[in-house]
Amino acid sequence: MSSNIVPITVAHGDGIGPEIMAASLHIMKAAGARIQEETIEIGEKVYLRGINAGIEPSSWESLRRTKVFFKAPITTPQGGGFKSLNVTTRKTLGLYANIRPCVSYHPYVQTKHPGMDIVIVRENEEDLYAGIEHRQTDEVYQCLKLISRPGTEKIVRYAFEYARQNNRKKVTCFAKDNIMKFTDGLFHKVFDEIGAEYPEFEKEFWIVDIGAAKMADTPEAFDVIVMPNLYGDILSDVAAQIAGSVGLAGSANIGDRCAMFEAIHGSAPRRAGQNLANPSGLLLGGVLMLVHIGQPDVAELVHNAWLRTLEEGVHTYDIFKEGVSKQKVGTKEFAEAVVANMGKKPQQLKAVTYSREPNKALNQTLKVHAPQKKELIGVDVFFDSKDRNPIEFGKKVETFNGGGLKMFALSNRGTKVYPNGFEETFCTDHWRARFMSETQGAAISHEQIVSLLDRTGKANLDFIKIENLYTFDGQKGFVSEGE
Ligand code: NAD
Repeated sequence: MSSNIVPITVAHGDGIGPEIMAASLHIMKAAGARIQEETIEIGEKVYLRGINAGIEPSSWESLRRTKVFFKAPITTPQGGGFKSLNVTTRKTLGLYANIRPCVSYHPYVQTKHPGMDIVIVRENEEDLYAGIEHRQTDEVYQCLKLISRPGTEKIVRYAFEYARQNNRKKVTCFAKDNIMKFTDGLFHKVFDEIGAEYPEFEKEFWIVDIGAAKMADTPEAFDVIVMPNLYGDILSDVAAQIAGSVGLAGSANIGDRCAMFEAIHGSAPRRAGQNLANPSGLLLGGVLMLVHIGQPDVAELVHNAWLRTLEEGVHTYDIFKEGVSKQKVGTKEFAEAVVANMGKKPQQLKAVTYSREPNKALNQTLKVHAPQKKELIGVDVFFDSKDRNPIEFGKKVETFNGGGLKMFALSNRGTKVYPNGFEETFCTDHWRARFMSETQGAAISHEQIVSLLDRTGKANLDFIKIENLYTFDGQKGFVSEGE
């Protein structure tokens, strides 16, 4: 635990942002938070000044100096051309772990799931959020899903270390490896590998669709859940909402060198400037920040005073319920009620305690894996063609066989259509032809691929991209046709 004053970068955001930030800082300071703020401007005004990332270059200097960002929600202006500030910040600062505790406060906040207490650990940098998207043909657009071994090892280990530090009992992984055998398959495999180093935890794996259904129906069955970026993005909102309200959940974005803390909800522009908004989500983000900067004593004071206030029925409009709540209050009055409860613990809800131990999840040494032997054995060439008949088009592509390469299969949107395809299969203008060595399984060269592309180009067939087919230590690094 540190008695030093910690500099933090604060952004007051848009919409309800300035009101909930003022309330949160007021409560944290009343609890004795040892922080010194550097204020930066982000969001709508910055976007509208023509800075398409929503943050000025000088603000990055503050973030790199303090390494701690307390951020209110912002409004992303309508229309194209604006980059998501959240995605930019997470990726630029390497904030690989997104932690979202979703807890119900029954009977003080209405929920169908009184016993819910889960933490979603979402991978924050990879997956479909790499932003690598292309339009390839008139009809087809693609978005690349990238999952890396080091990225997955980091997030999975973070989830287990978080579980250990916070006395959790079980860690569950969600992914869809029955369909995405390589990307989600890696996520599942790494979960099993790293999980084996943590024998004290119960471990479970669910295919994300049925796992999500189970989580929405019986959240009590889960504890810590770790998942790739997109599933985590969607399911953490679902989890927060079924716990009671998105207005009650805070979130931490953690990296090796920097961290960002926020509410999970947006800037609620319709509620702005009316002293209506619930500051709880941002305040709980602030609690996570206090733990992160080594002030668990202050975090505990704030969290318990807040629980006591909820329990006393002092509620903002979003969670106010006749018969359950006692007093409907605005943002400022709610903050004053929490300050008045400082030092008190909840009487019915469980009081929180935060470990005084430093967070070990942050000191990860990645495993070193010896590179595997990589061999080029084929190439998938993607074509844009309005030929709608797969058999005719297949025969045309076969005319490019030669130089030791042969087309073994043609597919359209992943379905094999030639040879032995059906004319009935619906085809778009986006085709994939798999070329391999005439001697099946033998290695090929880059030169063979270049001359193949040269032949197709000279025949005015538009190849839109290629994907090389490799083996790694003899194991295929691509999904076989028909799998
Ligand atoms: P929102 O989360 O702002 O609002 C959804 C609903 O929840 C609204 O009915 C709102 O009134 C209510 N609500 C949200 N927070 C509340 C609070 N603290 N107290 C009381 N009620 C609350 O989502 P939206 O309307 O889809 O988005 C509004 C803007 O916020 C958009 O510009 C969006 O891009 C942005 N946004 C920002 C972030 C962020 O900065 N992290 C996250 C999500 C959305």
